[in-house]
Amino acid sequence: MTYKAVVIGGGPAGYVAAIRIAQLGGQVAVVEKNKLGGTCLNRGCIPTKSLIAAVDKLKAVEDAVQFGIEVSKPDINFVKIQARKDEVVAKLVEGIHFLLNKNKVKLFTGSAKIKAAGVVEVENNGETEELLTENIIIATGSSPALIKSLGYNGTSIMTSEEILRLPEIPKSLLVIGGGVIGSEFAHIYGSLGTEITMLELAPSILSIQDAEIARRMQSIFKKRKYKIVTNAVIKKITEIEGGIRAELENGDTIIAEKALISIGRTLNTQNLGLEEMGIETGSKGEIKVNDQMETNIKGVYAIGDVVMKYQLAHVASAQGIVTAENIMGRKATMDYSAVPSCVFTSPEIAMVGLTEKQAKDKGIPVKIGKFNFMANGKALSMGEGEGFIKIVTNAETDVILGVHIIGPHASDLIAEGTLAVKNGLTAGNIAATIHAHPTLAEAMMEASENVHGLSIHG
Ligand code: FAD
Repeated sequence: MTYKAVVIGGGPAGYVAAIRIAQLGGQVAVVEKNKLGGTCLNRGCIPTKSLIAAVDKLKAVEDAVQFGIEVSKPDINFVKIQARKDEVVAKLVEGIHFLLNKNKVKLFTGSAKIKAAGVVEVENNGETEELLTENIIIATGSSPALIKSLGYNGTSIMTSEEILRLPEIPKSLLVIGGGVIGSEFAHIYGSLGTEITMLELAPSILSIQDAEIARRMQSIFKKRKYKIVTNAVIKKITEIEGGIRAELENGDTIIAEKALISIGRTLNTQNLGLEEMGIETGSKGEIKVNDQMETNIKGVYAIGDVVMKYQLAHVASAQGIVTAENIMGRKATMDYSAVPSCVFTSPEIAMVGLTEKQAKDKGIPVKIGKFNFMANGKALSMGEGEGFIKIVTNAETDVILGVHIIGPHASDLIAEGTLAVKNGLTAGNIAATIHAHPTLAEAMMEASENVHGLSIHG
């Protein structure tokens, strides 16, 4: 038989594309060499958020006394925390098996490679099989990036993969790279009592965030006694008795029990037959695609981390849906005008659209509205008044260009900002929308009112 499409990789890009093709009536196969759900479910979004949920519970217990609830000092059973995380992951992976089955998506286990136009070869334990297909979707994702001088050994010097499986809480952790992944692990282990040092090459951690938000998070981390070294250039890291030693270019040394390398992601594009097929790649090895997610070779599509547009699960899935619809004869186009992204620290951070600097660099006249959670009744009731919402608007049209949040449930609140940016709403539109009381969402309304100097509680 000839499939409508064969998808290589069963992560959030691949399995979503496959299900949508099946929903639209196409016969589709997924080839996965490891576990369904990819990085997101097995080594990324879900296990980290499951650990974060555990440290959130710990904080709730520690803070309970402020609410008049006396509790004794909590005991941390890290083995149980890890086991619960593994259960959550297993349940979700099982759920994807169920969904593929329900939608009659054929699953092949093995490593896939494009053999020729319309032919995918699957190799499993030395056995090979060829699948014939009208279309091929490359959704092979990414893996942790490594640099030789960082001395990766998978035990004391780890990536995000091994740190998720630690059997014990380390006494001290050196986090190399203060991006989203580094910050989330600093938050997880810092909350569990690990002494944290973060090294960041840039002048600030979380440098893709709005500068004010990044500064606030950095100061919150510092208040928690995390040591943060910015503009830090590492010469090398070596294993020593009982831990690691990092040497910096400026002569400083840092000793810790463990080190986490979180310096970015490398693309899983090797041995896929890209060169043999003449599939075009960019300077960083990313697979080049058009807005329909098609490569330069007709009928070959690429989605998710391998196209290196945004390395986020929800973008990967959106690209999967666009691809599926194009393959099934609908004309769909990727629209990146409103991509939310979140950092699951405490408080959370979330952003969508342009930062103040990006808007100004584009020559747009900018007007800002802000609102502090300290003046929001719900946030104060919850004991989570730390943080603010910042709305970036076009001063001439009032159109919302970006929303930046640091505060409680920022990752949920950003949905309203995303809807606003995507649909060209104005600050006036949000300000004129009645928001339920008492809710955190009222802070969005007040920040929008503040653009016009009319916030009631600000
Ligand atoms: P992947 O999820 O990497 O899946 C690719 C799949 O392809 C894998 O299962 C792999 O085994 C398979 N594969 C590769 N090569 C072959 C082959 N030749 N044959 C067969 N199968 C193959 N994103 C968010 O949006 N929110 C978050 O909170 C978040 N947290 C993260 C935390 C961490 C620690 C990490 C590392 C990432 C996080 N991400 C998060 C990013 C997110 O995980 C990725 O953007 C997403 O998984 C990309 O999806 P994908 O389908 O492109 O690739």
